[in-house]
Amino acid sequence: MTTPFAKPDLRSDLQTAFDTQHRQAPQMALTTADQRIERIRRIQTWVITNESAIQKALYDDFRKPASEVSIGELMPLHAEIKHIIQHLKQWMKAQPLPTPLALLGTKSYIRYEPKGNVLIIAPWNYPFVLAIKPLLSAIAAGNVAMVKPSELTPHTSGLIKRMLTDLFLPEEVMVFEGDADVAQSLLALPFNHIFFTGSSAVGRIVMAAAATHLASVTLELGGKSPALIDASANVKLAAAQVAWGKCLNNGQTCIAPDYVLVHESIKQPFVQALQANVTAMYSPDGKPVDTSDSYARIVNTQHFERIRALIDDAVAKGATVTLGGNLNAGQKFIEPTVLEGVTDTMRVMQEEIFGPVLPVLTYTNLDDALQIINQREKPLALYIQSRNRQTTQYILDRTSAGNTVVNDTMVHFGNIELPFGGVNHSGLGKSNGFFGFQAFSNQRGIMQREFGTLKFIYPPYTDKVKKLIKYILKYV
Ligand code: NAD
Repeated sequence: MTTPFAKPDLRSDLQTAFDTQHRQAPQMALTTADQRIERIRRIQTWVITNESAIQKALYDDFRKPASEVSIGELMPLHAEIKHIIQHLKQWMKAQPLPTPLALLGTKSYIRYEPKGNVLIIAPWNYPFVLAIKPLLSAIAAGNVAMVKPSELTPHTSGLIKRMLTDLFLPEEVMVFEGDADVAQSLLALPFNHIFFTGSSAVGRIVMAAAATHLASVTLELGGKSPALIDASANVKLAAAQVAWGKCLNNGQTCIAPDYVLVHESIKQPFVQALQANVTAMYSPDGKPVDTSDSYARIVNTQHFERIRALIDDAVAKGATVTLGGNLNAGQKFIEPTVLEGVTDTMRVMQEEIFGPVLPVLTYTNLDDALQIINQREKPLALYIQSRNRQTTQYILDRTSAGNTVVNDTMVHFGNIELPFGGVNHSGLGKSNGFFGFQAFSNQRGIMQREFGTLKFIYPPYTDKVKKLIKYILKYV
């Protein structure tokens, strides 16, 4: 696919831009907390002043309702900004560490220094916040940055370009719009750190490219995040939370519950409660869901057809649609849809769904449910719905996930104090608050000798030295 950006001299343009930033990086490293906070405030002011332009861009891209822009894009962004402003001075301070007795006379500390030149590649599903939030961490840590927003949300991408071009000198922050070609040209440059948010498949490409320059990476990826609902759960509340998690942003959320494992004894009331919640959220007045202005759309025809194919494949192999199932290709509309009777042979249980389609599986023995989870890659999020603390602990002890929420879905993204991210196939490294600052920093370990020496254990290893070494061994 060609784009206006995939011109033959793209790579040399990018190299020139990279070199400009590379020359500026040492100056950025010397910036004080106040100078970095001033840059963060520029973004804060712009976002506040241009809130309606941001909402309009996201509506134009895939009819994202303004309230969902506020919940999913602006809230986490403002939380990050406030948190950085509040804590950056503390984070930038040298962090003293204890000293072992054998090294008496020295002191040790961590100094957070910027990685230098960083690249941020963003996806389309939360296209504003997932481009700007990592940039805030990069600036807080004192880096120069290039940002590549998603080509699938061109209104938001254009807005990001205008915003960052207005707010920053190109030697500090630059935006490159475009598709995979542009991303690959950027990935060929010797960045110090790459922060990528997107699919696991492209994550692998990014990590391979990073290996060429031994760049460090943060990979915020996706996958199949299960919601496990045990017999003790508050069925109505669990159904409300799962329905909201599955339908927000039209199911195009990395941490959306991908599929449900519900105890057989409560499956019926759970599915009924799902239906009641979908109705309450999207057709409270009895009108069809596609007339609701609270319901976004699938981002493009390719993704619409991908999700339609997942439903068709499941139904052809014996699954039943027990809720929803209406589709409208012209509108890229898919009704909230529940599939029952799904099996591992169906694509819907093999791929990340990333749309408003929910397979509901049942179990009677908890270990069987855990096996269904553990035979897949470690998820980005695992949701547990249970009022039994022992069961909750049992599940936590026997599974692994980037994040877990007990008795809710998706709300962990709102707590900036929590590390956010995946594990292996769902991601590497963490973001949010201090963890984002850390991702863009080199933790330089520094030891300084104030007095004393270890000269008495230097060669030659006489009997006296050997005795001293033996003695010191006790105090390491
Ligand atoms: P994607 O991987 O297709 O694209 C992400 C970015 O990579 C885009 O900017 C795109 O231009 C670029 N890209 C695409 N193909 C490329 C290639 N071959 N080489 C280099 N760059 C390439 O992902 P997407 O469809 O934009 O987003 C959806 C995915 O992102 C889902 O898997 C979702 O779970 C995941 N996601 C994860 C998080 C998280 O925080 N963990 C957040 C949002 C989305």
